[in-house]
Amino acid sequence: MRIDIITCLPRLLESPFSDSILKRAMDKGLVTIKVHDLRDYSTNKHRTTDDYAFGGGAGMVMMIEPIDLCIAHLRSERRYDDIIYMSPDGNLLTQSIANQLSLKQNLIFLCGHYKGVDERVREHLITRELSIGDYVLSGGELAAAVVADAIIRLIPGVLSDETSALTDSFQDGLVAPPVYTRPAEYKGWKVPDVLISGHEAKIEQWRQEKAMERTQKRRPDLLE
Ligand code: SAH
Repeated sequence: MRIDIITCLPRLLESPFSDSILKRAMDKGLVTIKVHDLRDYSTNKHRTTDDYAFGGGAGMVMMIEPIDLCIAHLRSERRYDDIIYMSPDGNLLTQSIANQLSLKQNLIFLCGHYKGVDERVREHLITRELSIGDYVLSGGELAAAVVADAIIRLIPGVLSDETSALTDSFQDGLVAPPVYTRPAEYKGWKVPDVLISGHEAKIEQWRQEKAMERTQKRRPDLLE
């Protein structure tokens, strides 16, 4: 998979991909992430990428031309499955969307800033819009990193044990059951006996019951 992220603040995207699972995925060649500085596609001498809103009002708007030039440049090199704008009014990211996107080969993420992008970008250049929640961030970079993380960990070979992702919350419509590790007793607080019984079928049954119980309690909406 290849992910191209277009942003006017590329430094914001340095750290999410320089550690742990995402870094390992890149080192293994399972995913390539390229961050593009929108200023490189600005056509004016101050390298600006935003301007005042037509009609007035507070807040700058990201101009269409640098975005169009950057996307056109990328599209001249390969075919993209989706060109995604991060937006608070986009489709809410779910595990199901992450699963779908993890099967794609080439994706572009466009990060907005200020008041967002000129509407014509969304009408003519974007194929999908994603939100990470009903709140407003100052820019799309952190949202793009969230979406990238959610999909990259699903690519076969990224997690050391591939079955791990399948037992996480939402994958089967339930939240995950509780987990424990050593010591089996700490300050008198014990791990459930069944988990140290070595009885695989009983452990599996316990996990399913707990996942169901937890979903009923915390996220009954998932069961509807
Ligand atoms: N004026 C816009 C908000 C702009 S926030 C509005 O009211 O809808 C600036 C940028 O941050 C957006 O262009 C988008 O790229 C990003 N952003 C903000 N909140 C987001 C969210 N919940 N999910 C995804 N991206 C978000």
